[in-house]
Amino acid sequence: MTITLPERALVVLVGVSSSGKSTFAQRHFTPTEVVSSDHYRAVVSNDENDQTASKDAFELVHSIVDKRLRRGLLTVVDATNLKTIDRKSYLLTARHYGVATIAIVFDLPQAVLLARHRARPDRSFEETVLDYQLANLENSREHLPVEEFQAIYILNSEQAIESVEMIRTSQVNSYLRETGPFDIIGDVHGCYDELVELLTKLEYDVAQLSHPKGRKIIFVGDLVDRGPNSAGVLRLVMQLVQQGTALCVTGNHDDKLRRKLRGNKVSMTHGLADTVAQVEAEPSFFRQDVRRFLENLPYYIRLDGGRLLVAHAGLREDLHGRTGETVRAFCLFGATNGQLDALGLPVRLNWAADYKGKTTIVYGHTPVAEAVWLNNTIDIDTGCAFGGKLTALRYPERELVSVAAKRLYAVPSRPFLAV
Ligand code: GDP
Ligand code: MG
Repeated sequence: MTITLPERALVVLVGVSSSGKSTFAQRHFTPTEVVSSDHYRAVVSNDENDQTASKDAFELVHSIVDKRLRRGLLTVVDATNLKTIDRKSYLLTARHYGVATIAIVFDLPQAVLLARHRARPDRSFEETVLDYQLANLENSREHLPVEEFQAIYILNSEQAIESVEMIRTSQVNSYLRETGPFDIIGDVHGCYDELVELLTKLEYDVAQLSHPKGRKIIFVGDLVDRGPNSAGVLRLVMQLVQQGTALCVTGNHDDKLRRKLRGNKVSMTHGLADTVAQVEAEPSFFRQDVRRFLENLPYYIRLDGGRLLVAHAGLREDLHGRTGETVRAFCLFGATNGQLDALGLPVRLNWAADYKGKTTIVYGHTPVAEAVWLNNTIDIDTGCAFGGKLTALRYPERELVSVAAKRLYAVPSRPFLAV
């Protein structure tokens, strides 16, 4: 399931104790985005289970929600929120500040909840409390649809909770007013030395994280895996983004690393094992920073009044400006027909051959020997990690600048240099 979050939104988690609300919140949101009643119970009483502290705790929760929504910040209420009256005051605050409201309902089978509750050392209340909460959840099924939420997502299994992909739409259109000039850089794949060399060739001051003429970098994603120094690439790109000198969209490799770092099971192939080992060798705050950085990357961005679009694997014209699972899959993997080729790799369709749009699309994902324009689109992944080169496209000049790979770091499963 894909949950689409607008830029200014209030997310209300709804679910009985032990349904996984806090775990979910920790996975998908940054600590300051989550306002937890348990946390404020502990703040005022030293005990997050002390129900006599609830009144004080909820006063703080409401006050913080109010202050954050006033600033237009994404805010998540982590409490049971099982009754209409519990949810009402948040909805009023959200309406007051004109922010979107989204309910995420955790509706797990009773047996799962009971098993979790019994296994949980930090929750000592009677199981009758759970029965009472379940009755309220049952009522919520009826009441929620007539409350004021713009969207209600119901997660009714552990699998459904696990598979949620959160898409933050804010950034897609956030850069429309930026006109450049830009240096758009293809798949780096851990090739740190080549990245520094390319940035130097493009006249960036790498130590100062800036360009003397104020140019900006845009990475097409796939920062990691295959090359020798994914951690170094992540650190530099994160610093450039933090500094406002670079923008970045997410690639399929970055997305897989993100899922790994948030605790999902992913296959450790195509260089991911090395990347994870490099990240784990760093101090633990680096791992947190990487995770937060990856969680916040957009799948694509539109720039220059809509004249330019950057997505890792490109984007069909009818999907421009949209969000959702189809958009996410296209941005990360491009057009595929669900079939595998003789090498067992997904068959990639050449969507660019059919593209007729006015928006210039710059992308990567599929390594090519040379970056070549096709119908106002250009693939600038010239396979650096595979011994090719690292390429930048200057926009609006439309000049290509490359540096050669210093080595062959990984063997491509599909040859590309000969094509
Ligand atoms: P909350 O009371 O709704 O905030 O629930 P928590 O997020 O604190 O989770 C309650 C318990 O369920 C904890 O012991 C978690 O470790 C466990 N838990 C949470 N999410 C999952 C999940 O997706 N799968 C499994 N198996 N356990 C989970
Ligand atoms: Mg909780």
